[in-house]
Amino acid sequence: MLVAIRDDDICYFTKPEQLQFVYGQYWDTYPVTLSVIPFVDGRNKTKLTLVPPQILGTPKQYPVGQNEKLLTYLKEQLENKHIGISMHGYCHLTENGIPEFESDQDFSKKVLDGKRHLEEAFGVEIKVFTPPNNSMSRKGAKAVIDAGMNVVMAYGFYPWERPINYKTFMSFLTLCMHHLKYKRAYPYPKALDCGTHKEHACVVLHEKTTLEHLKQQFEFLRNKNANMCIAVHYVGLYHLSALRKVFNGFMDYLLSNHKQDIQFVTADKLFEAQ
Ligand SMILES: [Zn+2]
Repeated sequence: MLVAIRDDDICYFTKPEQLQFVYGQYWDTYPVTLSVIPFVDGRNKTKLTLVPPQILGTPKQYPVGQNEKLLTYLKEQLENKHIGISMHGYCHLTENGIPEFESDQDFSKKVLDGKRHLEEAFGVEIKVFTPPNNSMSRKGAKAVIDAGMNVVMAYGFYPWERPINYKTFMSFLTLCMHHLKYKRAYPYPKALDCGTHKEHACVVLHEKTTLEHLKQQFEFLRNKNANMCIAVHYVGLYHLSALRKVFNGFMDYLLSNHKQDIQFVTADKLFEAQ
């Protein structure tokens, strides 16, 4: 069984000390796929904000590749196989309550520019896209698929959120059957082949998640002979000790009880496996 960790919202403003604090002691135990925002916008407001107070509200985009201290740190982690890199939106800006990739604009150029920026900055091919807020419009999805990336989602998608072909529609029906059967209690346990690309679901860690819940999700997926992707945010893990305790508790549980059954991988490997 493969287990991947997806950590969203790494951007120009991420401090190496934050990542080191959250993951430093575990770097040699499991890799983390950092989902990076190529050009974070200064107007991003999140609960635990990504943007420093003195910048917050500035209508300007900050290329992650221009933060040399962060880049040096991340490249070192890449070399040591501590991390993988995936793409998390373009500038991550929610406008009029609509998450970035859910809007109806043409994202083709933004996706290619963002992907190229990450590939040049980190020297790796970007194969996985994680949508901000786990949501995409059909146009958002089309740009991501055309750029050759697979998608790590949360629970799934509706037919109007993806370019439609036979395999995508069948994947949607498969997802529907799964969620009807389990009442959205568990992620779909396989990578969905949509013909043009693949999608993999996540177990999302948030403030109300309990250790017991994570164990149940793991057991469900293990019994299905499936793989597991856990979605976290380093900002939350850094600031909220209770959340960190749940996450670390779960990783310790895996290592103590299932070390022989699992292999920790970067998120791109979830798609190679199936
Ligand atoms: Zn995000």
